[in-house]
Amino acid sequence: MDPARVKPSQIVQYLDQYVIGQEQAKRVLAVAVYTHYRKLEMARSGQLAMDKSNVLIIGPSGCGKTLLCETLARQLEVPFVTADATSLAQTRYVGEEIEAIMERLLERAGGDLERAARGIVFIDEVDKLKAGHGESGRQVSGESVQHALLKIMEGFPVRLRDGRVMDTGGILFICGGAFVGLEQIMARSHSFGYISTTAGDDENILERLNSRVKPTDLFEFGLIPEFTGRLPVVARLQELSKEMLVRIMVEPKNALYRQFRDILAQEGVELSVAPAVFQQIADIAHEYKTGARSLRGIFEELLNPVLYAVPDRPGVNKVLIRSLFEGPQFLEGQGGAALTS
Ligand code: ADP
Repeated sequence: MDPARVKPSQIVQYLDQYVIGQEQAKRVLAVAVYTHYRKLEMARSGQLAMDKSNVLIIGPSGCGKTLLCETLARQLEVPFVTADATSLAQTRYVGEEIEAIMERLLERAGGDLERAARGIVFIDEVDKLKAGHGESGRQVSGESVQHALLKIMEGFPVRLRDGRVMDTGGILFICGGAFVGLEQIMARSHSFGYISTTAGDDENILERLNSRVKPTDLFEFGLIPEFTGRLPVVARLQELSKEMLVRIMVEPKNALYRQFRDILAQEGVELSVAPAVFQQIADIAHEYKTGARSLRGIFEELLNPVLYAVPDRPGVNKVLIRSLFEGPQFLEGQGGAALTS
């Protein structure tokens, strides 16, 4: 697939199949990616000097930042890697770590240097790079990590261990972070007040500018102006509500519920989980405050007794879970009665 030929609306449609909610971020990302690959194409044919717009994704942990990026990359069939800014800050030689990221990208591209040079790199936790962080001597400061990242974000070539040189000019960098406290900072810094809309959200540019994250808002997190300057596109993700958590378990193409239903279907067993159970799981996951991250663990826990018992009970053809407070019901025969619970 040629990534420059995929329309933003097609990207959003694809993302919708895997990522619940986050509509605004999907659109921002779709346009950013589309523009990036178009510019790259024009730069290749000499029509335009490549001036890259890398992306910043802001959102709480576990709300879909990584998922959005990896889903995008899968659709566009471009290589993708993730890295952590905080772990870069914990190493002595940040340059070597950056080389290692590029090596991984090359690996994902099957060793094809040209493919790797059109990949997507997601660097999470850039909000934890406060200048001066980690001055113990063993670690590099957050600011030097930013300088090192800036180089590749600006398109400086990276020399790999095998001596080959990787051109980073066409790589799309997406930086992520939770930026806790950003709302309060923005409330203080945005002086032109709330502008009410008469038109739809999409049409009122002033309103959108008003709610836009300004580079200066990010300085309080220790980001240096050159770094924020390289991240002109900002996508914001919402915290996941309980309703969204329920939808995440059921709706995406690879949703947890579907995965477990498929596994049991292989054993000739139909799994049926009552809606109340999803609500209960969402309540618990919401308490954990790790976004959708805890859903899988809770689900595995819930289904452990089922997956343990079913292979030993060939007569069972249906398993019913009605509540987190009751054990699963194993049913046999056509619409059979519950035998055990
Ligand atoms: P982060 O925002 O911290 O990068 P991730 O994207 O890694 O979070 O999300 C962790 C897991 O939670 C994902 O693998 C995915 O299964 C699930 N998840 C998080 N947000 C969503 C969402 N909006 N829609 C569907 N699944 C989600």
